[in-house]
Amino acid sequence: MSEVFNFSAGPAALPRAVLERLINELPEFRDARASVMEISHRGEDFMALAKKSEQDLRDLMNIPNNYKVLFLQGGAQQQFSMVPINLLRGKEIANYVNTGHWSEKAILEGSRYCNVNVCTDSTSNGFTDIEDFSSWKINPDGAYLHYTPNETIAGLEFDFIPEVDMPVVADMSSSILSSPIDVSKYGLIYAGAQKNIGISGLTVVIVRDDLLGKVVEQQPVLFDYSTQANNDSMYNTPCTFAWYTAALVFEWLKELGGVDAIHRQNEKKSKLLYNAIDSSDFYSNNVAARFRSRMNVPFFTPNPELDKLFIKDASNENLLALKGHRWVGGIRASIYNAMSIEGVEALVSFMRDFERNSG
Ligand SMILES: *Cc1c(COP(=O)(O)O)cnc(C)c1O
Repeated sequence: MSEVFNFSAGPAALPRAVLERLINELPEFRDARASVMEISHRGEDFMALAKKSEQDLRDLMNIPNNYKVLFLQGGAQQQFSMVPINLLRGKEIANYVNTGHWSEKAILEGSRYCNVNVCTDSTSNGFTDIEDFSSWKINPDGAYLHYTPNETIAGLEFDFIPEVDMPVVADMSSSILSSPIDVSKYGLIYAGAQKNIGISGLTVVIVRDDLLGKVVEQQPVLFDYSTQANNDSMYNTPCTFAWYTAALVFEWLKELGGVDAIHRQNEKKSKLLYNAIDSSDFYSNNVAARFRSRMNVPFFTPNPELDKLFIKDASNENLLALKGHRWVGGIRASIYNAMSIEGVEALVSFMRDFERNSG
């Protein structure tokens, strides 16, 4: 059987090597004489794993000491609530950037807690471009600025960090660990694990410690970052299996040479795919060249019927999950860290064949 390449947007493909380790270690976790799914999170074996995984992530991302790393549940969207609950700190306004679907959902939830100032809005260009930073209307009284560095659905990615006089909060669900970033430029970073970190169930939060402990009263205790920070993310039972999977992914990434190495690979992969799109009159992608996502590449054939046929034929050729999000239609290839160059080459080769046979 020839190799299968999975272009799913999320939950997304795991590195093959991680899957194999998972399978091998599943019945018996290291010295525990039981499966990782069956042991106490407070036992020696899991505690060692938790500690090492945090250190590995700190090494990979160069996380400064004054930042806490939390391993939480609830998905990225729970952070749409936890961010305002924790970071408003008595203020009534927050700045939000609207560059796509996930931005919009964060804005909707943020609006339940404060006056949201949408400081820039890409709705009018169909989320294919980002307004020049100098034209953004930032409210200086905002408690923070929230943005989505990579919009997973439309494939729109920032190539700069907004520099503002307040904590910058970033939903990095679909871009964390894909390229080097300067964590010290952020107040808070969060990411659901099911794209670049591992499997669903886990949400990683990286938060500057001076922002903790200022939650307004009567909020759920589990929604207070300091509850989790003061208890090593074990105030309640963490999602141990997803945490364990993340630990394996961090080790895999370190062995590969870290974020710099995967970044070079991601650049190669996305260039290969965008070149294939741009060099043909058959395929198109309408995102402003500067802001094209390196992780999620939406594209179209000349008509929706051919898009459908493309997705079906590709699946028969072992290229899976290429259906575009229902908001955008067309085709979408998600090429996160776990996608190999060979996978993108196979897709590009299929694209050429499909064009030839349909043209
Ligand atoms: C996938 C995704 C989400 C959704 O996260 P959940 O874990 O399902 O809550 C949020 N934001 C971005 C940028 C995403 O890519």
